[in-house]
Amino acid sequence: MKWTNREEMELKEKYSSCASLRELGTYLNRSIRSIKQKAARLGLSRGLAPVNKPKNKRHRNISDKQYYEDNKKKIQHTKTKRLKRIKIEMINLLGGRCSKCGYNHCWAALEFHHNTSDKEGNMAHIIKNKSREKALKEGKKCILLCANCHRELHNQGS
Ligand SMILES: [Zn+2]
Repeated sequence: MKWTNREEMELKEKYSSCASLRELGTYLNRSIRSIKQKAARLGLSRGLAPVNKPKNKRHRNISDKQYYEDNKKKIQHTKTKRLKRIKIEMINLLGGRCSKCGYNHCWAALEFHHNTSDKEGNMAHIIKNKSREKALKEGKKCILLCANCHRELHNQGS
């Protein structure tokens, strides 16, 4: 059934409110699917629609922890995959090999050494905790060294 202008107006007005889509469906006499499709076509967003989480902060922490416990393996797997993907991307940007000895066999044995003084933090920490964009930006201040050359560089004269 075609949407009338008035219906569209009402959808625009109510879509981002806290009413559930089911309530909205009853109100507009449409299926949830039809509402979602129409909203997508109009470019509407639900914004910060309420998620199924407790309002109380302490309880929320508990539910987040519970989510982590229930999905630990999946979360860690995703994190490791992301870490590897960004690190390899950065390694490729920096030439793909140790800039001192040319080592390039294993990505895990390649490390980032800050070549400038405006260091914003340890690269491993930045890759893990900051956005990909931030990591790539910080990576431009680094040279690539293999783990051995990196240790040697930091222990010169000892
Ligand atoms: Zn090396």
